[in-house]
Amino acid sequence: MTGSTASFPKARRLRFGLLLGSCHFSSGTEQFTKNFLLLTMTGKTIFKKIIDREIPANIFYEDELCLAFHDIMPQAPVHFLVIPKKEIASTNDIADEDAALIGHLFCVIRKLAADQGVAESGYRVVANCGPDACQSVPHLHYHVIGGRAMTWPPG
Ligand code: AMP
Repeated sequence: MTGSTASFPKARRLRFGLLLGSCHFSSGTEQFTKNFLLLTMTGKTIFKKIIDREIPANIFYEDELCLAFHDIMPQAPVHFLVIPKKEIASTNDIADEDAALIGHLFCVIRKLAADQGVAESGYRVVANCGPDACQSVPHLHYHVIGGRAMTWPPG
């Protein structure tokens, strides 16, 4: 059994899909459906496939622990994702021993936000976790969104 299949056994994959079925996606329903079908059929999330270079992505940063790539459906002029190479399904699945990894991800976010020109103007770091937050890919990822003024609270 591969690491990805072990991380997402079939029952858990189906539960994930059913819970997300109640989530309202203002856009990207087709994208969600593709992601869910891919996970259900192969046991690999779309982000694991990006890590394994099985599908293309606009990757602009990589180190031994993580990747950053531009979101395929950007919600702002700057919208990229930072993901760990380690398969962690969501914030709920972060282990105590992942503390250094998570700290590393935020150091990368800080550097990339500056590289992308939004450090001064400001940006939002978002980690959707679970159905109420409309998490659509069960591989931990941080959205970094900037380049426009945002409102609060989020929808
Ligand atoms: P979330 O809904 O928080 O799980 O975010 C998943 C994000 O992944 C969404 O913003 C999608 O647009 C993005 N996404 C899905 N597939 C891809 C892909 N192949 N390349 C880049 N971004 C993607």
